[in-house]
Amino acid sequence: MGIVIDEELCEGCGKCVPKCTHHALRMAGPLAVVNNKYCTDCGICIDYCPSDAMDLTENVVGDTHESEDLVPDESGVKRVVINADNPCIERAEEGCDDCHSCVKTCRAREKKLLDPDFQICLGCGQCIHTCEGKVLHPRNSLDKVLEALQSGRTCIAYTAPGTRVALGDDFGEKPGTNVEGRLVSALRAMGFQYVLDVNFAADVTIIEEANELIRRINGEGTLPMFTSCCPAWISYAEYFYPDLLDNISTCKSPIGMEGALIDSYFTKFKQLDSKDVFTVALTPCTAKKGEILRPEITGTDAVLTIQELSSYIKTYMDFEKPQPQEFDSFMGTGSGAGAIFGNTGGVCEAALRTAYHTLTGQELDAEVCEPLHGMNDFKEITLKAGDVEIHAAVVNEMSSALPILDSVRNGTCQYQFIEIMNCRGGCIGGGGQPLLREEDEFYVKKNRIETLYKKDQNSACRTSHGNPEVQKLYADFLGEPGSHLAESLLHTAYNDLSSSVKK
Ligand code: SF4
Repeated sequence: MGIVIDEELCEGCGKCVPKCTHHALRMAGPLAVVNNKYCTDCGICIDYCPSDAMDLTENVVGDTHESEDLVPDESGVKRVVINADNPCIERAEEGCDDCHSCVKTCRAREKKLLDPDFQICLGCGQCIHTCEGKVLHPRNSLDKVLEALQSGRTCIAYTAPGTRVALGDDFGEKPGTNVEGRLVSALRAMGFQYVLDVNFAADVTIIEEANELIRRINGEGTLPMFTSCCPAWISYAEYFYPDLLDNISTCKSPIGMEGALIDSYFTKFKQLDSKDVFTVALTPCTAKKGEILRPEITGTDAVLTIQELSSYIKTYMDFEKPQPQEFDSFMGTGSGAGAIFGNTGGVCEAALRTAYHTLTGQELDAEVCEPLHGMNDFKEITLKAGDVEIHAAVVNEMSSALPILDSVRNGTCQYQFIEIMNCRGGCIGGGGQPLLREEDEFYVKKNRIETLYKKDQNSACRTSHGNPEVQKLYADFLGEPGSHLAESLLHTAYNDLSSSVKK
């Protein structure tokens, strides 16, 4: 069995897509398409289709791409342009046989990017996973990192929330297994003197972001406020929605904050000279390789993806051997709220926990935010915090963001706070994660998401404002959230790049 969509009847309203809990439906151009490998024949979409365009069929032809191929590629683009100076992704052009896989992925997941005369790469790396010829890769930063490790400089690594639940995939672990301890050991064995946790900086991001949200709700700034952690989303806004740049939180991403704090706070505490320090962010994300090149993002010298680390470990180490180790204790402790940053909905939930505490003095019952869990394209919640009602929404994947972006543009948006992450599932689904077959995507990402929620549930501290290391950072160094020093180190600005887009 499977679902068939009548193209004559489908009006492209997209109402079916968020109803599919198995993520088997998405919009491609003007039509809904179904991935029958994920479809469980539950038929929920049929009930929600106002045009009666969907039906169950026994005649499912082939696999996932059959339905997608029915959508003509009007652009004529054969391969997504990856320029030689693309900082995030590289392609062995001679090995590419123009199979269109990257084009289909970019069109379905990113939208608006495939004008035949002008193509914009956000650097998200989703095409790496669907490239049939396996000629697309994260831009190599491993050589630069290995050179630094040999140079005698003090090398510091920090690991993003979603990395620990994916590295194990490449070493025979069940998808979603948390290999945090072995990841830390492997980085120390590689030669890093310090291994820190970006979950700490995620907590700092939340302190600043929740503070900013409350200020905006109180009339100081534009609403709704979008999250700002995802560099692919930031680039998307800079190219296609420059009129909404004031709506984006000015907070740097956790990697941006981590780099700035190492450069200032960490080196001061450890009495290191910044010039002798080399810093490496380990991320699920290829787009971060571009983010650290922005002039206002300082303190991170290289971004290494899990794919690159994995290739190093496979060549030089036995990943079974290292005994699990803990992060360094200074800037090495994150809360449960920091851990869930890797999941779609996690940033929003973490910020609401802290905003609620700031507004009421009480801790928010974590279960209140469960509507923000899961892989649906769109999720929402209304949270009453004292006299304030916060309407928040979460967009899972870039292509799902267009309706809400347009609603902000035309003044009909009802939300005050909106999380947008480029990758399906959030950063646990980043382009730099171990290669993932499309048919395994839902299961693997679901496992990664569940593991991060379990980490949160089992954490001694589940809120960013409750993290003792973060409290110490503010007490000893930053002062108040939004202080002059916090603004200068932890906040940023955006650029209107729309003139680069062909009209
Ligand atoms: Fe990178 Fe996460 Fe954005 Fe994907 S969702 S582009 S992994 S920051």
